[in-house]
Amino acid sequence: MINLYGIELSKLEEVMINEGQKKYRATQLYSWIYQKKATSFDEMSDISLSFRETLKEKYCLTIPKIHTRQLSTDGTIKLLVEMEDGMKVETVLMRYSYGCVACVSSQVGCAMGCSFCASGLLGKKRNLLPEEMVGQILCLNNELEKEKQGQRVTHVVLMGTGEPFDNYDNVMDFIRIINNQHGLSIGARHITVSTCGISEGIRRYAREGLQTNLAISLHAPNDEIRNKLMNINHLYPLSSIMEAVREYISIAHRRVTYEYLLIQDVNDSFECAQQLVDLVGDTEGYVNLIPYNETHLADYKRSSNNRIHAFGGYLEQHGLNVTIRKEFGSDIDAACGQLKAKAEGKMQ
Ligand code: SAH
Repeated sequence: MINLYGIELSKLEEVMINEGQKKYRATQLYSWIYQKKATSFDEMSDISLSFRETLKEKYCLTIPKIHTRQLSTDGTIKLLVEMEDGMKVETVLMRYSYGCVACVSSQVGCAMGCSFCASGLLGKKRNLLPEEMVGQILCLNNELEKEKQGQRVTHVVLMGTGEPFDNYDNVMDFIRIINNQHGLSIGARHITVSTCGISEGIRRYAREGLQTNLAISLHAPNDEIRNKLMNINHLYPLSSIMEAVREYISIAHRRVTYEYLLIQDVNDSFECAQQLVDLVGDTEGYVNLIPYNETHLADYKRSSNNRIHAFGGYLEQHGLNVTIRKEFGSDIDAACGQLKAKAEGKMQ
């Protein structure tokens, strides 16, 4: 069975033509499943009975099952959702004044092995399919629907478990599906891909012709520190990442966001701030400082608030655009870096 939630509109149009249907059937199906929220083919009253039968034989409309649901005091929702093969991933909904942000996972586990992050602990189990990423948003939308406040997911960040550029094609399909105006219609500028710095991925992404955003998990201003924090830096050192980022900026004409985790006595010195200015200062990007979320899985400590503000202040004085990441859902372990695939029995 092919899951309809995983098919990008242009591909669905081809499928419809191959089925002997008119091309517009595809937009009709999209509008049924995403706008009218049909969950079965039987509801699609303007599609002939016989074609509905054909659809039922080959296609399904399956979304992940909700295994566990946690609600934070700040309204953040964390879901552990279960795929058809029993694998589970976490997905989080955060409420900002400007909208509801879904933090979507792109893989079950992660192969990148960053020393500060809980997601990579058990390695990568598998890539998620486009329908499994779309499914996370549909699950969150269903939760919002229950609240009857008329809210829905308006922004998407690929900042859950997994490395999006290690699952490139599925992630691009996912973006095109949720961005499509006949589908969930989530604006390109409301979609952010976050990467640990896979240079080839950055270069490919530059050429997709998308108006989506790119965030780079930098976390260190030199290779010596970055090698210790992020295993992937041995393969793609800072020089290679920054070359790809500059290419991205010139091709896509988009500014990038640099994510920079602040860990006490590891990467939060003034010298680091100085080096960071030298590294990215001329790229007109945004620096998003992330207070480190301590997990019992790593020995790192969060930098003090004074240090975080001093670090940010230095960057600002030197012309960088700086924001300090607001934290959500820390009472339910939903904050950055705390998501983990609770893989079968190995971890709670
Ligand atoms: N693989 C992608 C997507 C993961 S996004 C990437 O590396 O960008 C998750 C973000 O949270 C990344 O910037 C990651 O470095 C950061 N992060 C990981 N562990 C964290 C922790 N314990 N505290 C705060 N941020 C963390």
